[in-house]
This record gives sequence, C-alpha cells and structure tokens, in this order.
Amino acid sequence: MTWPILGSIFISSLLLVLVFLYLIFARPAIWRRNKSRISSFYIAWFSSYFLFVVFFTGPQDFHHYPPRIDSPYKLPWKSGVKRLVVQGNRSFTSHRDRHRYAWDFLMATGTQILAARSGTVIEVSDGYDGIGLNSNFILLEHEDGQRSGYYHIQQKGSLVASGDFVTQGQPIALSGMVGQTMFPHLHFLVFNKEESTSIPVTFNDVLEGVPLAGRFYVSGNVQRP
Ligand SMILES: [Zn+2]
Repeated sequence: MTWPILGSIFISSLLLVLVFLYLIFARPAIWRRNKSRISSFYIAWFSSYFLFVVFFTGPQDFHHYPPRIDSPYKLPWKSGVKRLVVQGNRSFTSHRDRHRYAWDFLMATGTQILAARSGTVIEVSDGYDGIGLNSNFILLEHEDGQRSGYYHIQQKGSLVASGDFVTQGQPIALSGMVGQTMFPHLHFLVFNKEESTSIPVTFNDVLEGVPLAGRFYVSGNVQRP
C-alpha cells in the first residue's frame, strides 16, 4: 500500500477524533440520543486502525537486519541523551517505498546532529526554509558504498561541505523542521550504493539493534571535535 492510502486513513482518523470531540462538547443532545450507535462506529473504526498499525507497519522481519554487534552505525546525537522515535521503519504514513527503512527522531530545532558513521560528505542541501515539498539534507558515503542521509536540517544548518571527510560523532548539521514535516525532528536512513532504496541497518549503541516507534533511546555516540 502506498502513502496516499495510508495518509488518507490517518487523516480520516484524525478528523473522526475532532468530530467526536465536537459532538460531545458542542452537540451533547445529538451525542446522548445516538450514544450507542456512535460508540459502536468508533470502536469498530479504531480497533481496525489498531490492528492495521500492529500488523502492517513497523519492521516486518528482524532477520533482514544485520547483527547489531557488527554495526558501524551509532545514533546520530550526543551520547547520554535520550530521544523519542516518532516514526520507525515501514511506518504508517511516510516511511514507505524508497524511505521504508527510515527513522524520525524527535529533536528540537538547532540540535547538533552527529555523524552516525565515518564517511565522506557527498551532498549538502541547506538552502530551503519552512514546511513544504523541499527538504534540506546531508548525504554521507561510507567505505562500503552505503550512504546515510540526514533530513529536515535547518536553513544554513550544515556544518560540513561536500568532499569533507567526517568521523563518527562529528557534528555535521543543526536539526530543523524544513520540508515535509509537521514537527521538529531528524529523518535518518541508510541507502544502498545506487541510492535506489533504503536498506535495513542496526545501531551499535541500541541494545535490540533496531529502534522502534514510540520508544526512547539513549545515544552512545561520543562527540568528536
Ligand atoms: Zn521521516
């Protein structure tokens, strides 16, 4: 299923919540008269929604992921700091298709993003500002050809230039809220050599290897000057 379908289900659910609140607070008479009918509808809708989220989003099969212990990646922020994963791999709305193996880490605008792995900067885009179609990002290429991407960074928020070699833990950008986003966060993912698709990776500093949506993780990525 593609994101327009997923997005529609998500937005419909959001609207249904608003309608529900409107009925209860602004039209209590209608709500009282149709209580059982309205309740059954909402229970049916949201239990299907819940089943859908549980069975059709999130990592499908952990066997696709490389072992955590060999992983060259660490969480892309300062060690000791705990952050929430708002969306994980194969998420409900936007982590699909080419961005299926992405994570959204909640991060206040202006937070230093550290390189998850040493590599060469191959692309920097930090000219955009505000919410819209175009996002700022930084792309690193690693020794085995894998490429890691850091998205939604602040306008003029890059701390590196194309061609620079950066080591793991080096600050590379300031996070932001630019592009297709509704809250400040870092969208992180690793692409294959051809950049045709994202690939499943693990983080060396995450005990279970794969961060999951709705959970907090403490980084073990020691900042380097
Ligand atoms: Zn994302």
